[in-house]
Amino acid sequence: MDLHGIGIGQGVVVGRVVRMSDPLPDPADLPSELTADEEIARAAASLRFVATNLTERGAHAGGAARDVLEAQALMAEDPALIDDIAVRLARGTTAERAVFEAFGAFRDMLTGLGGYMAERAVDLDDVSQRVRAHLAGQAPSEVPDPGHPFILVARDLAPADTALLNLDVVLGLITSGGGPTSHTAILAREKSILAIVGAAQATDLVDGDEVILDAARGVVVTDPTDAQKAEATTRIAERLARRDAPLTPGMLADGTAIPLLANLANADGAANAVALGAEGVGLFRTEFLFLDSATAPSVEVQQQKYELMLREFAGKKVVVRALDAGADKPLAFLNDAVEENPALGLRGLRSLRASEGILRDQLTALAQADAATDADLWVMAPMVATVEETAYFVALAHELGLTTAGVMIEIPSAALLADRVLAQADFASIGTNDLTQYTLAADRMLGSVAAYQDPWHPAVLSLIRQVGSAGAALGKPVGVCGEAAADPMLAVVLVGLGVTSLSMSASALADVRASLAGYTLDAARSLAEVALDAVGAPEARAAVAEAAARLSVH
Ligand code: PEP
Ligand code: MG
Repeated sequence: MDLHGIGIGQGVVVGRVVRMSDPLPDPADLPSELTADEEIARAAASLRFVATNLTERGAHAGGAARDVLEAQALMAEDPALIDDIAVRLARGTTAERAVFEAFGAFRDMLTGLGGYMAERAVDLDDVSQRVRAHLAGQAPSEVPDPGHPFILVARDLAPADTALLNLDVVLGLITSGGGPTSHTAILAREKSILAIVGAAQATDLVDGDEVILDAARGVVVTDPTDAQKAEATTRIAERLARRDAPLTPGMLADGTAIPLLANLANADGAANAVALGAEGVGLFRTEFLFLDSATAPSVEVQQQKYELMLREFAGKKVVVRALDAGADKPLAFLNDAVEENPALGLRGLRSLRASEGILRDQLTALAQADAATDADLWVMAPMVATVEETAYFVALAHELGLTTAGVMIEIPSAALLADRVLAQADFASIGTNDLTQYTLAADRMLGSVAAYQDPWHPAVLSLIRQVGSAGAALGKPVGVCGEAAADPMLAVVLVGLGVTSLSMSASALADVRASLAGYTLDAARSLAEVALDAVGAPEARAAVAEAAARLSVH
């Protein structure tokens, strides 16, 4: 039986399963034999040990892993949590139980907030497990070392473990929990680890099972046949050949240039993106720099961070998105109000406009960073719904000295009026993650409706065509910076719909580059028609796969 989940990466791998040991059981609620002060000293020592250990691991891992592990270390030092543990210990319980309860209460609070915050609950559970393991004098549950390459199976791998995976032996990763924006997924993408997350039935896999982990299709094939293994082996060889291919600019078979850009959240990933052939940055998600800030960052602090990124891309295009706060990415200083439907709330440009001073500061910082560096800086507004909002943002950006200002198309209303939106904006960038969520009315964070969150849906493609056609008529660039751009076949379809550049996680660049090279612009347009004519997403995918075999130049 095949297991289905969310694939991270475009590759496929065949290997044998090794399971991560299960987490520690819940500690019994028994009175302590020690005094409260003795228990407090035990808890404090273990919390300190874990904080130091996580910080050291972060320094060793570097990159996004360092940020994640440092954030975890801060959890172990959180004064509110330590106070809560002390209150519970004063009631005469054990340090193990007090740590378990206090972290559990914090976790429930995060889960209640939903979205990005809820996905951080697993980070907190991991810290709790590590502290309790230390209290018990045990090693925390770690990645096994069977002495041969293997596919790691876990409930939901902790960030500390994902960050330090030895990629010489871990061929891939399968988790039964976790979603596309869990830290496991984020770190797996950054480290180019093939993974399937959220495969609920992975709990049935046992040590030694042979499986095919097909990240491109989001499937784990259990007990594969010889024919299935042979097909996987061919795909692995093809992918290896692509990885070794020269880092040419993105181009169709007929020479049409389609710049391939990287999605980045801070300058740490820039060197890797450049090494993988990124021709610039198509989406700099600035809100990720300030997720933990209680107050709005100053112009100086922002300028310094933006300059770091711009210096990595001298002479190249860098598209910076203004702070996209709300729903899955709450920023305390912009909008932390509790809303019943935050995805439909005061988010993106709406919240920036409600605090125009913060927007002005950000655009000012960007203009100053631009003046101090040599990159080609473009700015864009997130979550734009109307032509009036477009005019507002573009005028403000121009007023503050930024020459190229555009909008993200993530809301169907903006796509439907793309001709009028693009008449105001210098460019558009389509955020297919949100555009899909709003077109199909399916929360992108909710596993139970994940099947709707598919950008291959002809309704989504039809909106994209509307934007592509408007861009062509007005001579304005139209990019895609949602996950759809990282799907090699869909990337060709997007170009056929009129998209002029594609931005993605750097690990996807090689596959998309190779795919584009297989089709002329005419072929891409034919494939786009095939997709638009389908009745649903699976049908569009299947029809394009069939037609692509005929239309490829290879
Ligand atoms: C999108 O919505 O497609 C997008 C690129 O923005 P984000 O994923 O950050 O919301
Ligand atoms: Mg978005």
